[in-house]
Amino acid sequence: MKYYQTVILAVALLFGAGCNRHLQQFGAGKKAQNVILLIGDGMGLTQMSTAYYYENGTPSFSRFPIIGLHQNKPTDELITDSAAGATAFSTGYKSYNAAIGVDDDTISRETILEMAAKKGLSTGLIATSAITHATPAAFFAHVPFRDQQDEIATQLPSSPVDFFAGGGLQFFHHRKDGRDVLGELKEAGFTVDTTSLNSSELLSISKKYGYLLAPDGLPKMQEGRGDFLPQATQMALDYLSQDKDGFFLMVEGSQIDWGGHNNDADYVIEEVKDFDKAIGVALDFAAKKGNTLVIVTADHETGGMSLSAAEVRMQRDYNHIKPTFSTGGHSATLIPVYAYGPGAWAFAGIYQNNDIFEKMVQGFGWK
Ligand code: MG
Ligand code: ZN
Repeated sequence: MKYYQTVILAVALLFGAGCNRHLQQFGAGKKAQNVILLIGDGMGLTQMSTAYYYENGTPSFSRFPIIGLHQNKPTDELITDSAAGATAFSTGYKSYNAAIGVDDDTISRETILEMAAKKGLSTGLIATSAITHATPAAFFAHVPFRDQQDEIATQLPSSPVDFFAGGGLQFFHHRKDGRDVLGELKEAGFTVDTTSLNSSELLSISKKYGYLLAPDGLPKMQEGRGDFLPQATQMALDYLSQDKDGFFLMVEGSQIDWGGHNNDADYVIEEVKDFDKAIGVALDFAAKKGNTLVIVTADHETGGMSLSAAEVRMQRDYNHIKPTFSTGGHSATLIPVYAYGPGAWAFAGIYQNNDIFEKMVQGFGWK
């Protein structure tokens, strides 16, 4: 489709639809006060498609009016890892695999979370991995290599993060170097909980909160993680939405990637279902508030996963799906982006992963 045809189609969609609900979903001409970025690590189109075959009811993905695709090639190779992928989203710079919040020359680049905080917005990070793991780390830390999780942890207390929830306690206390980063978090004003989310209490926006609920990653859904991700998302929204200046929140379904690396379809499916619930929480919030841009995407696809037909006695059975994998690593396939709310229209089309940073900046109306 030519550019002008796309514009005509977009205009037709915006005004032809002729109802407020659609205008709100596409966000024509409005700025977003809040941005919620949900990253399903390793969630390509196949992983997302599992929601349509293995979930009861309509997946949250169906609620998005705008869908695009991004290409995620890092600077040094063809296939990205989560560090370069998240750094492209968080800073707008493509970088080399393993880079956390630094560009191709290892120069620290300001992240969207840091920019938001500077403008007076509140900020939050949620992950089912360690909070020091590549994806969440790329929003608050700046180190040359993702493996430096001890160093990444030390950068959290002085970062402008107001709320975080995930795993990774081992990087904060009983460290080899003897440094008590848990203590440093408390000195920096965080109320830290290492046992549970306490989701019944409303958190005060004048305070900061940190939840470190496992030594490293949180348990798999299959091992009883329960409602951590949707619950933490709801808690963060109840907390952050008290800030009249707005907020930036990143929520990661971290373990879709780990299921892919294991070539374990059931692991992937359960993690996608859980992530889809968290997306539902974000969309319910946005539908009610009307000033919130919600973006869902992935850094890359993991496993070269496919929803293949089952084979029975050398015959393809088109009535049964048997998920298959083509690699134990990541793949180069383009990645879907789903958008809702003010600024959502900008996410239609095909673009680079680091363009998502610019589109969020535009969505906030900062440019
Ligand atoms: Mg990740
Ligand atoms: Zn991975």
